[in-house]
Amino acid sequence: MDGRGLMRRRIVQIGAAGVTGTLLARGATAAVPKIDTGRVQGGRVEFPPWTAPTERPSGGPPNPMPVNERAGFAVVGLGRLALEEILPAFGTAKRSRLVALVSGTPDKAARVAAQYGVRPEAVYDYAGFDRIRDNPEITVVYVVLPNAMHKEYTIRAAQAGKDVLCEKPMSVSSAEGQAMVDACRAAQRKLMIAYRCQYEPYNREVLRMVREKTFGPARFIDAVNLQNQGDGAQWRFNRALAGGGSLPDVGLYCLNAARYLTGEEPVEVIARSFSPPGDPRYAEVEETVNFVLRLPSGVVANCASSYGMHESRVLSVHTPGGAINLDGAFAYHDKQLRIAHRDGRAESVDERRIPMQNQFALEMDHMAECVATNREPHTPGEEGVQDHRVMEATYQSAASGQPVAMPRVEGLDRTRGPAPSPS
Ligand code: NDP
Repeated sequence: MDGRGLMRRRIVQIGAAGVTGTLLARGATAAVPKIDTGRVQGGRVEFPPWTAPTERPSGGPPNPMPVNERAGFAVVGLGRLALEEILPAFGTAKRSRLVALVSGTPDKAARVAAQYGVRPEAVYDYAGFDRIRDNPEITVVYVVLPNAMHKEYTIRAAQAGKDVLCEKPMSVSSAEGQAMVDACRAAQRKLMIAYRCQYEPYNREVLRMVREKTFGPARFIDAVNLQNQGDGAQWRFNRALAGGGSLPDVGLYCLNAARYLTGEEPVEVIARSFSPPGDPRYAEVEETVNFVLRLPSGVVANCASSYGMHESRVLSVHTPGGAINLDGAFAYHDKQLRIAHRDGRAESVDERRIPMQNQFALEMDHMAECVATNREPHTPGEEGVQDHRVMEATYQSAASGQPVAMPRVEGLDRTRGPAPSPS
């Protein structure tokens, strides 16, 4: 063999060694055992538990629906709530996806559309809103506008053939809320009010304990939702746009909690309100409201809302056998659930830790499920109308200084649809 032949053979050998080396480096199956890679069972990916039974189970991988089978949402109004909470929540939603935006601020809308992969043709302004009718990808319209605009966009959406998820408070009066219910019914569209706490696992655990009377029947509910509102021009200080001050904005959570925990409707409201004299922010709306609801079973709910106190969002339920306390009850994140009760000769305070889930994703997925299965939402328009009625009685009592009686409603959960499916 000549020198060139030897060299060629050497090159071939080096080349073969190189290919083999590359195959091994790419994770050749022979050398690396395959262990614990999960499996698809009933359409979902599953792994066996990797922690001992003494540990909290992880819950496993989420099981979202294939993207093209989810309900398409159009979000109307790209303000703080939409951009800080709702749009990110689509990332963890299982039945819902973002397909369209509606905004009066074109550069913001274009930027947000690019961030979330919404096609430019699916970005609408308010004047062109009714064109959503021609977009079959849109199933649900989520109204996240200032309160006084909810009615118009809910009704226009329903008349464009879309189901509606509307932010709280549903409107600025029970009459406007009822008009929204009537219009959606006439258009044969669903209307759900975004009472996120009724879908959130910590609040649902308190609800379970109250309804099952785990520590005895509820006797007294204490609910505060306070925040210190900033200065500047905000629609929340404008009565025409907001419909009121801290009461419809944050006090509503306390009122709604008293109603959904017990399932009852108040028969009497006693209220006081306060605004710092001379503060121009409170020329049109109130800063603070304290209101007491008397429920038919004898439960009393003491509620407070404010725009002038440091953030505190606490829900407590007092029963003969235990004191249930949910700190951060109405907040987006960071909840602490403690239950004080007798334990032998000692007092025990249990802290219950529940895996957090995105409550905006849960409520959107509930709406998507109701649309897909033609079910009544758990928090339909009627739930929002009743809250407006109680708020109207609250303002009436605060103005007159007298208790205001409300019509007695027989039965429980008269304004609610079936409970949400376990997530
Ligand atoms: P923002 O003021 O942050 O945003 C409102 C958006 O509405 C604006 O950015 C604007 O979006 C649009 N808009 C259209 N017309 C007007 C107008 N005349 N004045 C002001 N804004 C207008 O409000 P939030 O996002 O905080 O609140 C929106 C709704 O969500 C309210 O009903 C509120 O009660 C509710 N909410 C609910 C919460 C919850 O936890 N469920 C928490 C916070 C709010 P664009 O420029 O795109 O047109």
